[in-house]
Amino acid sequence: MKRLEIAIIPGDGIGPEVLNGTRLVLDAVASRAGVEMRYTELLAGGIAIDATGEPLPDATVAACKRSDAVLLGAVGGPRWDTLPGDRRPERALLGLREALGLFANLRPARLYSALSGSSPLHPDISAQGMDILFVRELTGGMYFGERGRRLGPNGPEAFDTECYSVGEIERVARVGFEAAAGRKGRLTSVDKANVLESSRLWRETVIAMSAEYPAVTLDHLYVDNASMQLIRRPFDFDVIVTSNMFGDILSDEAAMITGSIGLLPSASVGQPGTPAMYEPIHGSAPDLAGRDVANPLASILSAAMMLRLSFQMDAEADAVEKAVSRVLDAGYRTADILQGSGSTRIGTQEMSRLVAEHL
Ligand code: NAD
Repeated sequence: MKRLEIAIIPGDGIGPEVLNGTRLVLDAVASRAGVEMRYTELLAGGIAIDATGEPLPDATVAACKRSDAVLLGAVGGPRWDTLPGDRRPERALLGLREALGLFANLRPARLYSALSGSSPLHPDISAQGMDILFVRELTGGMYFGERGRRLGPNGPEAFDTECYSVGEIERVARVGFEAAAGRKGRLTSVDKANVLESSRLWRETVIAMSAEYPAVTLDHLYVDNASMQLIRRPFDFDVIVTSNMFGDILSDEAAMITGSIGLLPSASVGQPGTPAMYEPIHGSAPDLAGRDVANPLASILSAAMMLRLSFQMDAEADAVEKAVSRVLDAGYRTADILQGSGSTRIGTQEMSRLVAEHL
């Protein structure tokens, strides 16, 4: 029997709860597909600080590197908020991305037809749906560039630097082109090439690569315009590739359009052959922890991405995504989703059980 080694990092807050629900669904998938999924539970985040003094123990990194894929819940919480930046639970995320070389973050943002009424967009627009894959650069740009404080001519000042190499742009753009080729064949590259030199290099590099992908239609938007078009015509986009900072902001905007942050999965990928990491885009939601009210669907849909991207189990990934649609179509909602007439409010465990049952 094929054996898949999955590193599980429950983390803090609602992380353990949503991952418990996700394992319920994965167990059902494994028994139907005749594969063995072996889980190794690992410490990271606040719980790791309490147990070892480190947000990301070396043993966790080593076990992740040995695994076929990593599933993460969420890290962080008010208990650890007063620690200095490099000791905080969230350091674990950056550390894992660095250690595994995860340079591209894939965030699908899909508006389910059953939830179009929960979207803050005008009904005429939300009724047309949305199915966008964001490909965000994850290990470069301003979040990793040179920064500092100094005394300037007008007093104290601070600076951050946006810097991208051709190689960094090419490897993330390639993920975008490949993804578009497997979807509707449309790639939108978002930059600020009218102002930023780093964006001009970004655009030149993406255009040069487009010759390798004749089946993909490439267009470009400035980030300010992209933020408007996402609200005006979200249904028009297929794959969006962009820098670390622009992707951070735009993908949260798209998350709101779907109705709840509790629905959005993500995958962080590196070079082929290295384990990828899958996690919901939401945080540890300390306000909900331990109450069986968190929405597990973002985590369950992250596991579906793992089945497709790390294990090439496309049919199983489709089955999980369809099961989620069916459960939503049947009117089941966790508390974070706007409840309509005829909907039934359920908890984390029940939502997970229903998805497993609808596979
Ligand atoms: P958050 O995503 O945890 O919560 C934002 C809001 O969304 C809250 O009202 C929360 O109740 C709600 N929410 C989030 N996930 C939900 C779910 N699955 N079901 C229902 N409702 C959900 O963001 P925050 O409040 O800014 O951060 C809380 C903690 O999480 C902080 O310590 C932060 O640093 C950390 N964080 C971690 C990650 C991560 O682990 N990847 C990401 C973001 C924030």
